[in-house]
Amino acid sequence: MPAEIRLFTCLSDNYGVLLHDPESGATASIDAPEAAPVEAALKATGWKLTDILVTHHHHDHTGGVQALKDKYKCRVVAPVAQKAPIPAVDETVREGDKVTVSKLSANVIETPGHTLDHITYWFHRDKLAFAGDTLFSIGCGRVIEGNPEMMWRSLVKLRDLPNDTEIYCGHEYTIANIRFARTVEPNNQALAAREREAKEQIAKGEPTIPVTIGEEKLANPFLRADQAEVAAAIGMAGKPAAQVFAEIRARKNSFK
Ligand SMILES: [Zn+2]
Repeated sequence: MPAEIRLFTCLSDNYGVLLHDPESGATASIDAPEAAPVEAALKATGWKLTDILVTHHHHDHTGGVQALKDKYKCRVVAPVAQKAPIPAVDETVREGDKVTVSKLSANVIETPGHTLDHITYWFHRDKLAFAGDTLFSIGCGRVIEGNPEMMWRSLVKLRDLPNDTEIYCGHEYTIANIRFARTVEPNNQALAAREREAKEQIAKGEPTIPVTIGEEKLANPFLRADQAEVAAAIGMAGKPAAQVFAEIRARKNSFK
């Protein structure tokens, strides 16, 4: 049976996600920004929390871990901590490891750049990837602990996932991301279509995620730094992709 998902908001613009295996009843929280919304989602679904899968150490992804661990005695899986500790970890994982939530199985993909410890959980059979703060719809995370070249390599790893992979990310930033992306690629038709779709979703009070890798790679400028038209659009024709990526990221950082 396919995995079931419950997506909900936490803090100001974070997303919480529950991943449920209907066969066994196992349920994982992907990150835990704060405990109360995760508990509310568990109550609404009747699911029982068995695991927390942490993508990276930032507090807005781990603030609820300890309280949920205390209450549900769930297993906490996390990357090997680098810059800051992650609370209540039972199991650390790295590139190539498998993480199972009963019958659901994920590959761990290391995606450093936003933080050095950042990982993505790719549930290949269910065509789901939980990308934390590495990839956002039409955007990517700020490069805080790593460097642009590292972040670009991480994004290419995600871009290489099958086109029908649904990406869940850590924040609702899509509309602001689109506003910036239009300044890089004003004539990108896939981006224009995504803008129409995202505005409709927001107007209806719906989340703009998940989104598929196939759609993202046509419209997200941060996944397109090796496309000749993108380099040319920012006056960097012929430059290496990582440099083009670094320039787009720097422009986004100062974009108002
Ligand atoms: Zn973060």
